Amino acid sequence: MADFDRRTALKGGLTVSAVGLLGTATISAADAASGVAEPKIHDTTAWNARPPAGAIEVQNHKPTYIVVHHTVDPGNVTDYTLEHAFWASRSIQNFHMDTRGWIDTGQQFTNSRGGHITEGRHRSLEILRGGTRHVLGANVGNNNSTCIGIENEGLYSKEDVTPALWDSLVKLVAYIASQYGISPEFIKGHRDFNSTECPGTVLYNRLPELRTEVGKLLGTASPKVDLPEWPLLKPGDSGPRVRTAQELLRARGFAVPVDGLFGQSTKDAVAAVAARNGLERDTCGATAATDETGFLGSDVWPLIVGSGTDPRALKARLAG
Ligand SMILES: [Zn+2]
Repeated sequence: MADFDRRTALKGGLTVSAVGLLGTATISAADAASGVAEPKIHDTTAWNARPPAGAIEVQNHKPTYIVVHHTVDPGNVTDYTLEHAFWASRSIQNFHMDTRGWIDTGQQFTNSRGGHITEGRHRSLEILRGGTRHVLGANVGNNNSTCIGIENEGLYSKEDVTPALWDSLVKLVAYIASQYGISPEFIKGHRDFNSTECPGTVLYNRLPELRTEVGKLLGTASPKVDLPEWPLLKPGDSGPRVRTAQELLRARGFAVPVDGLFGQSTKDAVAAVAARNGLERDTCGATAATDETGFLGSDVWPLIVGSGTDPRALKARLAG
């Protein structure tokens, strides 16, 4: 059964009658699902968020995917306190509002290296407790209406997450999955949607483990992911997959060498495909903090695969 924190809701400015309604809705949603306990989530009032600069859009449907991100900034800090988690939440909100020009924090939830979970975009916690609707965020380009995102503090391209972060991530994802009835195979990484390093190769490679652990908490069988995702290729990479990409780019009219080396001309060609098709860039904190020009990932592959190629077969071949 969900653990409803009445005091937190009151601090958030809800009336007593609203608390009563919310409490009822929370209990029934939790009972209807498998009853994963709500982890401690600190709402926007707790970390002293700024008010949003526009109306929060609440969509009348559940999200389809739970998406895992890494923040990149402020790096892999060793300050594991709640105070630091609150500071990081404010810092991300300032960056998203003042630099990105968004109305509020892009992601629905943030998870610190100390394992402290905070609400990101306003109303995300209230709507999650209801279990039927979706707060529209800004964290997965072209896919925000189907994705609920969790930003994990740190950079996980080479280093692993802290045990505390992992533990709270499992609990938060399981709670979200339980509230919305989302099956573990719909737990994704940001790179499954956009051409980005996010959530870092190390954390991305732990997603099968995350699906298994969440499945255990939900009481479901170990999930199977039938099809591999498109691989992420980056400038500097080499090998047969780069060669395949170069062959596809040449077939699209780009004068790139077919040498299996992801050099400047291949990077320029991929960047041109992304720009020509208006792919959204800088779609989460991590992507905005790093230069990912010319990355070839999930949203670019379908644009360079010719009509004569079966994408499913190609995906399988690239994975093998
Ligand atoms: Zn991301």
